[in-house]
Amino acid sequence: MPTVAWLPGDGIGPEVAAAARDVLKAVEKRYDHRFDLREALVGGAAIDQTGQPLPVDTLALCREADAVFLGAVGGPEWDDLPPELRPEKALLGIRKDLGVYANLRPVKVKAGWTSASPLKEELLGDGIDLLIVRELTGGIYFGQPRERRSTPGGEEQALDTMVYSTDEVRRVAEVAFRMAGERRKKVTSVDKANVLESSRLWRETVEGVAGRFPEVELTHFYVDNCAMQLVRNPAQFDVLVTGNMFGDILSDLASVLTGSLGMLPSASLGDGSRGFYEPVHGSGPDIAGKDVANPLGAILSVALMLRYSLGLEYEARSIEAAVETVLGRGYRTVDMAQKGCILVGTRKMGELVAGEVAGTGSFLGLPRPEAP
Ligand code: NAD
Repeated sequence: MPTVAWLPGDGIGPEVAAAARDVLKAVEKRYDHRFDLREALVGGAAIDQTGQPLPVDTLALCREADAVFLGAVGGPEWDDLPPELRPEKALLGIRKDLGVYANLRPVKVKAGWTSASPLKEELLGDGIDLLIVRELTGGIYFGQPRERRSTPGGEEQALDTMVYSTDEVRRVAEVAFRMAGERRKKVTSVDKANVLESSRLWRETVEGVAGRFPEVELTHFYVDNCAMQLVRNPAQFDVLVTGNMFGDILSDLASVLTGSLGMLPSASLGDGSRGFYEPVHGSGPDIAGKDVANPLGAILSVALMLRYSLGLEYEARSIEAAVETVLGRGYRTVDMAQKGCILVGTRKMGELVAGEVAGTGSFLGLPRPEAP
């Protein structure tokens, strides 16, 4: 039975995690699976009980599990703690320990969901379906040296280092090409090779990887142009692959295209099948405890977990199809509300998706999986 480290966390984390759990229960029932969900403390909830954002027991559980799911961490209660004791430290700790170097953020907007998007309908076309693959454990956020120092003239300077090795670029580029092979077979690599040496190495290395995936078309964009194109013509993109800092900025830009942070799932993957899954949003302290948070990012993160860590593609698609069906029927949480919609809370949205998963399954055009 696959084991999942289940870390609800803080604020709206436990609310969206509960909805995602309902959906996972529906998958168990419908497809006759069993998942061993082992709940543990993380973030502020862990600080309150143990003094640590990532207790050793929680980390040990993550190491043993087939997959890790996290709701969200953080909140104003813990904002005054020193940086190494803050809830968000747990995220970096888990990512680093699991060696998950490829952060995947699918961004999907279908025609009909689009009125929540800040872009005009005509820019969204028939919808957007893109995947950002961001390098997560290297680049300028980790490069050494990073320091403050004084110049001989007594002026203060600060220094960060953007460094990439071919191996770091190769492995994340391979993830992007493999994903593109299963999608529309287009990779856009994003860099700043007109200025940065590390970007020139990035580009050369990505081109080397492309040679092994002849069915996938590769294009290169400078990051400034890519930011503009994501707003002007987002439908042109399939898979984008980029470094840590560029990916950080572009994935936030891409996330607003859906109109709600609450819709977006993420997966962080390393060399094996174990992955770290979390909705993109934070702990939403302003809406916590009100049953208004959108749980779809968490629910879609569970779909990614089934796909990438547990090898259950059909079940993953049945969750994604259920989300589309529920949105197609006009159900919305308040963050995505539009004229004529049926407003529902966090719990109800979870129940609706779970109900679809439990009651459907033959609509995917795929062979049904064998009973395990
Ligand atoms: P946030 O994502 O929590 O909230 C930003 C805005 O989006 C808020 O107005 C919130 O109400 C709204 N929002 C977020 N998720 C939503 C959802 N599911 N449905 C509807 N609306 C939603 O970001 P923030 O306010 O910058 O940070 C709050 C706390 O979360 C901070 O402590 C921050 O450090 C932490 N944080 C955690 C993570 C994580 O756990 N992965 C990520 C980002 C921020």
